[in-house]
Amino acid sequence: MPHTMEQPVLINYEARTGIILMCDHATNHVPVGYDGLGLDNQHLEDHIAYDIGAEAVTRKICELMGVAAVLGPVSRLLIDCNREEHRPSLVPMASDGVVVPANQDLTPAVIAARKKAYYDPFHDACEQLVADHVSEGLVPRVIGVHSYTPTMNGEDRAWHAGFLWNKDPRLAQAMIGLLERETDLIIGDNLPYSGKDLYHTMQRHGADHGLPQTTLEIRQDLVDNDAKTTEWAALIADVLDECLSREDLVQRKYYS
Ligand SMILES: [Zn+2]
Repeated sequence: MPHTMEQPVLINYEARTGIILMCDHATNHVPVGYDGLGLDNQHLEDHIAYDIGAEAVTRKICELMGVAAVLGPVSRLLIDCNREEHRPSLVPMASDGVVVPANQDLTPAVIAARKKAYYDPFHDACEQLVADHVSEGLVPRVIGVHSYTPTMNGEDRAWHAGFLWNKDPRLAQAMIGLLERETDLIIGDNLPYSGKDLYHTMQRHGADHGLPQTTLEIRQDLVDNDAKTTEWAALIADVLDECLSREDLVQRKYYS
């Protein structure tokens, strides 16, 4: 079950392993006062509310490797931590064809209050974690953990997982190469969508600091139960472990 903390969840926050995980869309939780944003429970259990399996995969990688992670505090339908502040989809009026009744015609003050309560604490926790590493002379690899639907707008998404990047391809390409070498999985390179279009958390906490970074996306039907998330966490942990020794992933590098 996704967490219901209403605050960013910090895992192994003091750890310094060379890896930091950020899971923006960990939970579908909507605090009581919001009355489920006017949605049916069925919609709040669905992918529009959160990334199915992402929290479990993140927690299990943390258990296996002892790495630090920050989990998003609430459903992305309340406020989406992986959006720039100015994006209209920061507080989505609709998602995948479902209108969110409580998000219609909101004043800037209401949006600002949600941002202060949920979005800022998540990013503050990510920012602090990165700053602590960097001030100690460390170069953590930063990975966003997400999941996606098998179909979108009527199109099948055949990839089992994908790695997104914007300008710095280092970590995405290393992980893609390792997975393609060691498994028969179909791995997307900036697919099922591109990090050039949507990359807020990785840009802000990874790329802006010159750190190797990527968004991992796993198809949600592959991580929708306990056994599957255990399997994927072990696979990704193996790949991350290999990345720790790669020469090109130990330097801060800025791409223009
Ligand atoms: Zn996501």
